[in-house]
Amino acid sequence: MPRSPKICSPYLPGLVSREAPAARSSDQVATDERIDNIRVLPLRSPSHVSSHGGAISQRAAVERMKLWENGRHLRVKFLDGIPEVQSKVAAIAKEWEAVANLTLDFVTSGPAEIRISFAEQGFCWSTVGTDALTVAADAATMNYGWLEPTTSLREYQRVVRHEFGHALGMIHEHQNPAALGQIPWDKEKVYAYYAQQGWSRDDTDSNIFQVYSEDSTNHTTFDPTSIMEYAIPDALTVGSYSIGWNTTFSPTDIEFMRRQYPKASPGLLELTIGGARTNADLSTGGEIDTYHFEVAAAATHIMSTEGPSDTVLTLHGPNDPGAVLAWDDDHGKGLNGRIVRKLSPGSYWLSVRHKNPAATGSYTIGVKKQG
Ligand SMILES: [Zn+2]
Repeated sequence: MPRSPKICSPYLPGLVSREAPAARSSDQVATDERIDNIRVLPLRSPSHVSSHGGAISQRAAVERMKLWENGRHLRVKFLDGIPEVQSKVAAIAKEWEAVANLTLDFVTSGPAEIRISFAEQGFCWSTVGTDALTVAADAATMNYGWLEPTTSLREYQRVVRHEFGHALGMIHEHQNPAALGQIPWDKEKVYAYYAQQGWSRDDTDSNIFQVYSEDSTNHTTFDPTSIMEYAIPDALTVGSYSIGWNTTFSPTDIEFMRRQYPKASPGLLELTIGGARTNADLSTGGEIDTYHFEVAAAATHIMSTEGPSDTVLTLHGPNDPGAVLAWDDDHGKGLNGRIVRKLSPGSYWLSVRHKNPAATGSYTIGVKKQG
């Protein structure tokens, strides 16, 4: 039996609810932070049923994420710990800035979105993405329970890259729905193995065997080389199958996080009803552009994309950026989206993505009253 691995504790909000229920739901917090944390993805359908300006049809899949707003400066604060260990953690955490369009600002006082403690010995864990906002302001959102000044650099890299992956919205790779059936677990041996470090069968179920639902993923295929994968010793699987400790970002980790936090995204832009169309680019694979407009008086509005790209247009609101009112793929000019809908007074948001998550291209967007 190999040395007992050091892994994330069962405390992962969203998976195991040891905490008191948050005042706002974790989904609500996520969509308040970033409107496309609930994403409507068009599904291939043999009969192209008309959803012209209509509500969500069966042809859509909804994906729920816990991502921070793209371009965000996240404040990170140490609640305890010794300076030497803190500075090692900070240096490795900041590697994520080269991958994702986020800035980690280490602060020593005042509020912080990510709060790091070293107090809970023996456990390393982090909340996932915006779930950090559901944690009491004086409590930790991340813990490193075995990092010492003498711990190897490799171990620092492995756990800090992994825990900050959680903090930026990533889940465990073996709990990616695409991992289901990919790992030939010998379940009784796995229970016995983790029981040695104090895990109940429930703990093991929720951390090892339970996969997330299809609507929350890191990647569309299982990536055993992900920094978000645990080591899997051969002794815990049937036949010959093992995964070593991953200490570096895999190419898929980098590609996934670049898509979620694209450097070229313009941020939230304002649209004027009846104004000139706005020229824009989806310049990075997976980029999602978001727009806001205000409706002063109830009227039927036409919202559309135009141009050479196969865009998907999603309408959110009223007054709730996480609410999806309608989406459209191809009812506009060319392969563009067009939504016609009576809107009551309030705030609305439009998000634009390319139908093909790897593709880029230009488009224009506009909103006007009908007639
Ligand atoms: Zn983890």
